Amino acid sequence: MDCLFCKIVEGVIPVTRLYEDEQVLAFPDIQPQAPTHILVIPKKHIASHAKAVAEDKEMLGHLMFAVGELAREKKLDAGYRLVINTGPDGGQTVDHMHVHLLGGRAMHWPPG
Ligand code: AMP
Ligand code: ZN
Repeated sequence: MDCLFCKIVEGVIPVTRLYEDEQVLAFPDIQPQAPTHILVIPKKHIASHAKAVAEDKEMLGHLMFAVGELAREKKLDAGYRLVINTGPDGGQTVDHMHVHLLGGRAMHWPPG
């Protein structure tokens, strides 16, 4: 399978591994949109949030907790934004589910 983020999980494409365990991996976004911009992904290939299945529930909870741990580690005490772009209307460009953790500046609403 030709998946960019699976290649990052496998180490074929090197990244700074900010957090890693048996289920998830976190690394900096290559085009940061905020002072802190981290991607947190399941190691399992899930094409998008819409493709998660019941057996992924435990991992998804684990992933969301890991995101919170990263936010605390990065001292995003003033707040942060989590984004999961999903599908064409959601603006997803990499077809491997990922959570964007954005922080270090005030965010705007509504999103574009
Ligand atoms: P999305 O548009 O929500 O699918 O997000 C994909 C994100 O992946 C974008 O913010 C890209 O900047 C980021 N990205 C693409 N290639 C890489 C890479 N090699 N390393 C880190 N981030 C990447
Ligand atoms: Zn993948």
